[in-house]
Amino acid sequence: MLAGVDPQGGNQVLQRVKSLIRDIPDFPKPGIVFKDITPLLSNGKAFGEVIGLMAELGKKHAPDCVVAVESRGFIFGAALAAHMGVGFVPVRKPGKLPYRTSRVEYALEYGTDSLEIHSDALGKGARALVVDDVLATGGTAAATIRLVEQQGAIALACLFFIELSFLGGRSKLGSCGVDALLHY
Ligand code: AMP
Repeated sequence: MLAGVDPQGGNQVLQRVKSLIRDIPDFPKPGIVFKDITPLLSNGKAFGEVIGLMAELGKKHAPDCVVAVESRGFIFGAALAAHMGVGFVPVRKPGKLPYRTSRVEYALEYGTDSLEIHSDALGKGARALVVDDVLATGGTAAATIRLVEQQGAIALACLFFIELSFLGGRSKLGSCGVDALLHY
């Protein structure tokens, strides 16, 4: 159970939050049911509650920064970092970050993709909480953990708004702890 959330009240909040997630079948390609979070984002009270509940999950790791992946990961990651009073570090697609970068490649269903982080973004031993909106197959979060560890920092845990549990993505995240507010 989440700290500070009583069983009835907490469930009601999560039920309300769930009702603000819209399923979009066959987006961006056939067979994928996309979790559209924009109805939640447009409801300031509900979005604030989500950030508060995710902060409850994140604070037990005592991070000193949030590392989040573009683009929807930034929405949750930046709000969460500000709420928790810790720094925010962006992870982006290649060519988007202006300073020197480190890069990792990771496998997609067909082909590969890459992610980058500023080389000086994390000091050695920095305690990073990895944040994204959705955990699906786990490839994006696993690549982000590698970027964090390449810099000598510690990936304490991964925190998601939504986990698509049926895809088994958490098995790709090794010994890194995994938390999510909503599970499907
Ligand atoms: P994955 O690497 O497979 O875990 O995919 C995670 C990334 O893809 C996240 O950054 C999500 O924003 C996005 N994503 C994957 N599947 C979905 C989905 N069904 N609905 C919304 N976003 C998704």
